[in-house]
Formats: sequence, C-alpha cells, structure tokens
Amino acid sequence: MIKRLREKNIIVEMEVSVTDIQENDSNVRVILQHKDGRQEELNSEWVIACDGGNSFVREKLGISFTGKELTQHFVLADAEVQSDLIKDEGYVFISDDGMFLFIRFNEKYSRIIAEVSHDPLLNKAKNLTYEQVKQLAENLCPFPLKISEPVWTSGFWIHENMIANYRHKRIFFAGDAAHLHSPAGGQGMNTGIQDAYNLSWKLAYVLHGKCSEFLLDTYQIERQQVGRNVLRNTTLLTNVMTTHNFIVKHVRDFVISHLGKMNFVQKKIANTFSELATSYSKNLLVKDCMPWRSGPKVGTFNADIFSRLQTFHNGTSFVLLSIRLNMRIS
Ligand SMILES: Cc1cc2nc3c(=O)[nH]c(=O)nc-3n(C[C@H](O)[C@H](O)[C@H](O)COP(=O)(O)OP(=O)(O)OC[C@H]3O[C@@H](n4cnc5c(N)ncnc54)[C@H](O)[C@@H]3O)c2cc1C
Repeated sequence: MIKRLREKNIIVEMEVSVTDIQENDSNVRVILQHKDGRQEELNSEWVIACDGGNSFVREKLGISFTGKELTQHFVLADAEVQSDLIKDEGYVFISDDGMFLFIRFNEKYSRIIAEVSHDPLLNKAKNLTYEQVKQLAENLCPFPLKISEPVWTSGFWIHENMIANYRHKRIFFAGDAAHLHSPAGGQGMNTGIQDAYNLSWKLAYVLHGKCSEFLLDTYQIERQQVGRNVLRNTTLLTNVMTTHNFIVKHVRDFVISHLGKMNFVQKKIANTFSELATSYSKNLLVKDCMPWRSGPKVGTFNADIFSRLQTFHNGTSFVLLSIRLNMRIS
C-alpha cells in the first residue's frame, strides 16, 4: 500500500506524532513531532483523525467516547499450530471452561484466542508463557494441537465505545478513533477501512470543487449507523459465545447446530460479518424512485453487478448506467 501511494507521490511518514491540534472555521493547525526532535507546523483544510482507540486528537478536543467495558477477559497467541484439522478453516470450541478459537491467518501462523474470564491465574494476564498456551489448548481444545513457541501473546479486555459525531467541524474521525468494539467476527479493521473509503472520495470531490461541503455530512449519516450495528452485533456475539446462562447456552447450541447448517443462514452470517450487507439505502445521497420493483436495491451492495462494473469502474466515481426497460402493454 505504501509503495502504491509513493507511486502517486504520497509519502507516508513514519514515527511522526501529532502533539497539538487546533481548528477554526477555515483551517486546522497541527503540530507534528519528528523522531529526530524536529517540530513541524501543518495547516490543512481538513484532517482525518485515525489515531486509534486512544485517539490523541479525540482527547485533545475533549470529545467523549462513551460506552462500556465488557466483563470477559481474553488471551491470544500467534504461533505455528499443527493438527489433523483442515488447514484453511477456523475453529471455535465452546465449553463451560471457556471459549477457544484458532484460525490460520497466513502460510505459517495461526491465531489462538481463548476466553479466560473464570481462570483466576490468567484473567488479568497481559501476556502468556509458552507453557500456559499449551495448557490452554490442552484444557479447552478437544483435538490435539502441536503448538510452537508463540511469536506474540497478549491479554485483552473489550471496550464498546463510540464517538457521538464522526465529524468535528473540519476534523473527521475514522477507524478505532471513532468506534471500538469486540474483535468477535474480525470487523474492526474492515469497518475502519470502509470509513476511510466512504470519506476519502467525498473529501476529494469537495477539495476539487466538484461538490459542496454538504456531501461531507453524509459521512456521519452513513458510517455512524454501520458503526452502531457493528458494536451491537459484536457485543452480542461475544456475550452469546461466552455465556454461562443455561437457557441462552441451549438456544445458542441449537441455533448453531441446526439453523447454522442452512445455506441461507450461512449466507446471512457471511454477508453480515464481511460487511457486504452494509446498506446506505436510507440516506440523503440515494433515492429509489421505483421502490416497488424487484431486483437490486439502491444503496446496497450487489456482488453480481459490482463484479461486472469493476471492469470499467473503480468504485469512487459516478457511473451512468443505461437500462433498457421492456414494457408490454396489453
Ligand atoms: C485481539 C484483536 C484481534 C483483532 N482481529 C481483527 C480481525 O481479525 N479483523 C479486523 O478487521 N480487525 C481486527 N481487530 C481490530 C483491528 O486491529 C483494529 O480495528 C484496527 O487495527 C484499527 O485500525 P486503526 O487504523 O483505526 O487504529 P490503529 O491500528 O490503532 O492505528 C492507529 C495509529 O495511529 C497512531 N497514533 C496514535 N496516536 C498518534 C499521534 N498522536 N500521532 C501520530 N500517530 C498516532 C498509532 O501509532 C497507530 O499506528 C482486532 C483487534 C484485537 C485487539
């Protein structure tokens, strides 16, 4: 990505920190601290704050990030895992002792995640020893796993937090700086990238004078709803997967083992977690003039149409499609 940006004369600077930020009606003033101690003042029309869950910009502007902390505690380890299970599939094992998940994420390594809320030794752990990783796998995974020494381990708690407004005058918030949630379903990075994608083409249109600033308000309208849904779904999934409630456990197990096998349920889950089901149909930018007709809906993603469009359309410009209507009058 950095190489592609360089080809377009956009240089990504590493180890540069924002140490101060102020905005007025026409401009944002940012103070940057370089690694060599040099300070730089930057004046910009717009700023995108994508500085993570502990966003400096958010805190500097005194913007609240409200929500709650979930009670569960998890640990993770990235290691080489050998087993008789299918290599390119992810596995989740749920038991009363805790949830255990492992998923291969590249040629070499798998990520192991275990819920350790009820383990008095591990439920405050910030990282794990090799012995503890092996022990967890032995206790929580019903299949034998051969695990190499992990390259990274960490403990983590989950915050469910959200910013009230993705735009603060001339500053936009994107990614974890705007929304923080459970990693269940692996959506954090994807949601942040979608934020950036949604905002960047709009900013480009405004900066090039092709559109009024009104377009920028649609960023908040479109993306906050997506963020809210992600927070709700990931918290629900985390709670359901780690529940010790007898009734919820039985309903969950029934749903997974029966409904979970059905094609349309699998498709619905895949579409939700891949965020392909994201819809912008109810906002200011689109209008369905024929809501009664069948076929793809305005403002929604349609894989079939999208794959055909991609041959001549990069997704950030407008395309006029001419559709021939065959009308029969009888
Ligand atoms: C255990 C775990 C598993 C996860 N698994 C998945 C997954 O499978 N799929 C998925 O999509 N997401 C996953 N996520 C979430 C994902 O990692 C985050 O949502 C994503 O990294 C957020 O990206 P971001 O760019 O918004 O923030 P960050 O990745 O936090 O990046 C923020 C950047 O801003 C920089 N920064 C901070 N302050 C300043 C400052 N003052 N000046 C300059 N720079 C600054 C930081 O150094 C950092 O580089 C997981 C998260 C966890 C904890």
